[in-house]
Amino acid sequence: MEVIQALRNVFHQDSLLVGEEACRPFECDALSAYREHPLAVVLPENVEQVKQALRICKQYQVPVITRGSGTGLAGGTLPLKNGIVLGLSKLNKIIKIDPLQRTAIVQPGVRNIVVSEAVAHHGLYYAPDPSSQIACSIGGNVAENSGGVHCLKYGLTVHNVTSIKIIDMDGTESVFDEKDDGIDLLALMNGSEGLLGVIVEIKLKLLPKPEAAQVVMAAFHSVGDCADAVTRVLEQGIIPAGLEMMDKFSIMAAEAFAKVGYPTEAEALLLCEVDGSHDQVQVDAKRVADILTQAGAYQIQLSQNEAQRIALWKGRKNAFPAVGRFSPDYYCMDGTIPRSQLAFILEEIAKLSTKYGLKVANVFHAGDGNLHPLIMYDANKPGELATTEAFGGEILKLCVDVGGTITGEHGVGVEKLNAMCHQYDTPELEIFHGIKAIFDDTGLLNPGKAVPTLHRCAEVSHMHVHNNQLPHPHLERF
Ligand SMILES: Cc1cc2nc3c(=O)[nH]c(=O)nc-3n(C[C@H](O)[C@H](O)[C@H](O)COP(=O)(O)OP(=O)(O)OC[C@H]3O[C@@H](n4cnc5c(N)ncnc54)[C@H](O)[C@@H]3O)c2cc1C
Repeated sequence: MEVIQALRNVFHQDSLLVGEEACRPFECDALSAYREHPLAVVLPENVEQVKQALRICKQYQVPVITRGSGTGLAGGTLPLKNGIVLGLSKLNKIIKIDPLQRTAIVQPGVRNIVVSEAVAHHGLYYAPDPSSQIACSIGGNVAENSGGVHCLKYGLTVHNVTSIKIIDMDGTESVFDEKDDGIDLLALMNGSEGLLGVIVEIKLKLLPKPEAAQVVMAAFHSVGDCADAVTRVLEQGIIPAGLEMMDKFSIMAAEAFAKVGYPTEAEALLLCEVDGSHDQVQVDAKRVADILTQAGAYQIQLSQNEAQRIALWKGRKNAFPAVGRFSPDYYCMDGTIPRSQLAFILEEIAKLSTKYGLKVANVFHAGDGNLHPLIMYDANKPGELATTEAFGGEILKLCVDVGGTITGEHGVGVEKLNAMCHQYDTPELEIFHGIKAIFDDTGLLNPGKAVPTLHRCAEVSHMHVHNNQLPHPHLERF
């Protein structure tokens, strides 16, 4: 094939994988229910090679699926049969650390946790901390606008990135910086899911490590009380560094895995971290403990030292894989709702769980209203994946219907294309398509992801006729 031959002229065999066996590790991301075999996988070692790969793909009209570490949960890096995967894991250098300006310039393949490790001796860290931080790449974090436990106080990726360099299909560089005037193109790149350009360099904001941090763990006999307690903490003007909730199943699974002393008889658990100066932390932790007691917590535990604080987080941070031990497969949903709706939504999810006959574990960023129901299923049972997806689809619709959104941090990928049709109307979708066309007039960058076609939405929504009125009536039906 001509495109492979052209790539062979640039890439040696360690950087150009062809054939079923060599490409198999790249056939899916963490949404492993969907798999596809790409034409080839290209692993550039420098930015010049990224440019060359893109120019060759443009010349032969071959789609390009950019990949960081492949931990995405929405199928954003799912290959196309006729496309190449552009894996950026070899672009893994920290280019510059400036402790005075509190910034780090990194290549996209640098893993999230490596940044904080590299700047720790300056008393600094990089705040956004996805639970996948030991594996996921900064490029992937930007492309998904990733969040994490500490994003309630310190913001998502978009709030912690000050400059980005991208390459387009012509191999041309553009830099978007926080100092730029005009439309905020830097913000636009965050969450662009590989559709607008290949991110090859990122300047990150670093923060001074807080002097102290303490976790308050609160156990509740009722999910509703626990959910309401989240709003009570925030109403009092406290912005915790993290505010996470787990339901009974997640508590049991996390405790069985991490053995950190979670109360397994509880219906729900809150972990609330406060940070700052030693004095402030003492005051805030006491206030949080009082508020949670008044909100109905029957047991409160405060971490007494750093080891205890880390142990209390260990269960939460390992909750996803811990749930994985109890089910052959699980489907991790991601939707966001107004915090005031937490109790209602959790009740509705429990009803849907009964309706679909599938167990759910809830472990999520409660302070952000960012839900992560884990639907447990068995992909080997015929039809069970489809049932799971229908269940997940109903959860996302519920999120939109109560004033929320279909994703908090995992992105749309291929997973949530139909849900996008529920969230957005034609004019908004046309704007998304317009932006994509301006950055990528070839349509070769990650095609078919993140933004549904209007036809798809017409098909999806013809099942939802309101007031005898079909949505998108001008579009042809298949
Ligand atoms: C156990 C587990 C826990 C997780 N916890 C969290 C969490 O707490 N918070 C959270 O936000 N996410 C979480 N995730 C999801 C995932 O880790 C994040 O979305 C992460 O940012 C993906 O990074 P990655 O390098 O793996 O990207 P990939 O999966 O490789 O790619 C993700 C998307 O970004 C695009 N992309 C990647 N690199 C580039 C680039 N350089 N230029 C342009 N586009 C690019 C890809 O095309 C794709 O669309 C979790 C995942 C797992 C498996």
